[in-house]
Amino acid sequence: MKRIALITGANKGIGLEICRQLAQKDYHVLLGARDAARGQEAAALLGQDGGTVEVVVVDVADPATFEAARKLIEERFGRLDVLINNAAMGEDWGYTAENVPMDLLRQTFETNFFGLVEMTQRLLPLLRLSEGARIVNQSSILGSLGEHSDPTSQIADVHALAYDASKSAVNAFTVHLAKLFRGTPHKVNSAHPGSVKTDLNPAGTLTVEEGAHTAVELATLNSDGPNGGFFHLGKVLAW
Ligand code: NAP
Repeated sequence: MKRIALITGANKGIGLEICRQLAQKDYHVLLGARDAARGQEAAALLGQDGGTVEVVVVDVADPATFEAARKLIEERFGRLDVLINNAAMGEDWGYTAENVPMDLLRQTFETNFFGLVEMTQRLLPLLRLSEGARIVNQSSILGSLGEHSDPTSQIADVHALAYDASKSAVNAFTVHLAKLFRGTPHKVNSAHPGSVKTDLNPAGTLTVEEGAHTAVELATLNSDGPNGGFFHLGKVLAW
């Protein structure tokens, strides 16, 4: 039986490309989208590339959608093998730690962190039924406190506290969940896709094909692969 993979925020950008690559690897792909119509349009784009893809409605800022998704996966498949927490927002690029509006900070954490954690908690019983679950938390180098503390870092001039801190929190979740997975066949890791040209980052220099690579690699790890790391294209990043 095919392995079952759910990718959130997958109706465009890196998430959609992750769906394409996992479908090509013979996974049954659950394309997560907060808007069913946008999800269906995206799934239709993948149709020509083979593989099996279906849309699951998940709005990571609306926990009411989590139970319906969990129920659908339980009834259809009885387990989940891969969860890629990819959905995210980033809208505080013009602000700094001094002036980021509190509502934007809260909204960003709601989507990028609280929603991600709650959705994962909801699906964990199904993931634990997998022979070896793989959870990938789509993070960012902008979540790296090590990089932000280094005045010579490539991200030294980035000041988006809301987005960046939400990704640091995602990394903390990865570390804590990985502790629970020690001694089990399950794994969770954080991914940095690179600077990828998408609606979130129009100035990105990598293609979505390149950007999807790290998450796909972590989603398809063998049993001897890492648990609780932070990676970009196979290289370890500083927390
Ligand atoms: P994107 O093209 O803007 O895609 C973001 C996706 O997240 C869209 O499908 C969007 O859906 C979805 N989304 C936003 N809020 C959501 C919500 N509340 N519920 C469900 N889905 C929601 O961005 P991307 O660049 O592919 O980003 C994908 C991931 O990579 C994100 O986690 C991002 O932080 C991370 N990342 C990207 C870069 C980069 O350079 N692009 C670098 C580092 C990390 P709608 O279409 O409905 O808005």
